[in-house]
Amino acid sequence: MIAEFVSDQPEILEDPEMATTYVSRIHLTIQGDVLILGSGGNLLAASDPTLSDDLGQIPDIDGLLQAVEGQPTVILHYSWTQTGGTAFAPVADVNEQLIGVVGVTENLDATASQFGDLRRLILVAVLIALLLGIVLALVLARRLEVPILSVTEAVGEIAAGQRIEPITEEGPEEIQELIRSVNLLASNLRSMEDARRGLLANIVHEIGRPLGAIRSALHVLRQGAAEDQATRDELLRGIEDEVIRLQPLLDDLAQLHGQVTGRITITRAPISLSTWLPPLLIPWRAAALDKGIHWQAHIPSDLPVVEIDPDRISQVIGNLLSNAVKYTPEDGDLQVSAFHDEDAVRIEVSDTGPGIAVDEQDKVFEPFYRSQAARRFPQGLGLGLTIARDLVEAHGGRLEIASDEKTGSTFTVWLPDTLD
Ligand code: ADP
Repeated sequence: MIAEFVSDQPEILEDPEMATTYVSRIHLTIQGDVLILGSGGNLLAASDPTLSDDLGQIPDIDGLLQAVEGQPTVILHYSWTQTGGTAFAPVADVNEQLIGVVGVTENLDATASQFGDLRRLILVAVLIALLLGIVLALVLARRLEVPILSVTEAVGEIAAGQRIEPITEEGPEEIQELIRSVNLLASNLRSMEDARRGLLANIVHEIGRPLGAIRSALHVLRQGAAEDQATRDELLRGIEDEVIRLQPLLDDLAQLHGQVTGRITITRAPISLSTWLPPLLIPWRAAALDKGIHWQAHIPSDLPVVEIDPDRISQVIGNLLSNAVKYTPEDGDLQVSAFHDEDAVRIEVSDTGPGIAVDEQDKVFEPFYRSQAARRFPQGLGLGLTIARDLVEAHGGRLEIASDEKTGSTFTVWLPDTLD
């Protein structure tokens, strides 16, 4: 605006006195200092008294030279002590010829100090955020550190073969997941360790008992009992019985060994269940009746012909019947039934024995697992059901259990009836 006014009144540029008068007048209406310079940049008038020495000369002010070349310039100066701005505008006559320059310098300390306050505020906010961030990071790190340390410690103890108590689930979800996995691993290892101990104790017991009986019989024979024909025959029969009783134990162990190393071979043959099943049951019926158990068998005459490995399935049924006879008390009931459903045959072995608690019903299929109730029965390795289930599954069928501690247990073998 000043440049436009001066361009309309070019005499201001020709007379330094007029320039001085104009500058002092205009200085009253604006905040900053005003400079009027000739077309070469020589100072004609200035409201700032510190520039009075420069009158007639070209003052050393940034941006002036560009203005003299016809370019309007605005330059801001920042320093620790002072902040200000200088604006120069060239003044042109009607022919667009440069006839002078006007300048305004303004002290921007107040604005700068507002910016300074703002800067300090931002700095403080950033520092507080940084501090909070560090505190938060430390708290989070601590929250992670505690559970991670307990997991590391537990894994170390497991590796050293120690039993560990379940670790408390704490910390973020991912860490809780890790703790759950470690707890599961530890509990599986515990079960395996218990099973291993149980197995050793069982094997020692199962082999030790008949061996003891055989040794005593041999001892009695040596002492002269062999002289008496009847006593000798009885003792030899006893020895034979014990040796025969050892056989299933070895069979179970051999079978399990085969299954663990993945060697279940099924040799299928077409078997008519209605004729095949009844003779298979005869020895078990005798064993049940011997123990005073009521025996019932329902084998319909129209069961289909199925493709099965008869040796393996007779082992399955034998394992189920041997358990039923073993766990059912005198005067109890044992029932074997067979059914032909839509696309499967079903063989059920039910008893009125002690039953199996719901939380143990999956576990009884694990190798060497014997239920709490079964521990009262000395004989058994906890392998029969494991073997039975693996054999049924190898036939494409399934072995199911329904049991409660009041009524007893029912084991059901499902076999597909399709001839492949
Ligand atoms: P074992 O009879 O040698 O212990 P099994 O694998 O045949 O091993 O059975 C595993 C466990 O399942 C047994 O220890 C017993 O606790 C339970 N069980 C199996 N059959 C019966 C049954 N008919 N009645 C009650 N419990 C049974």
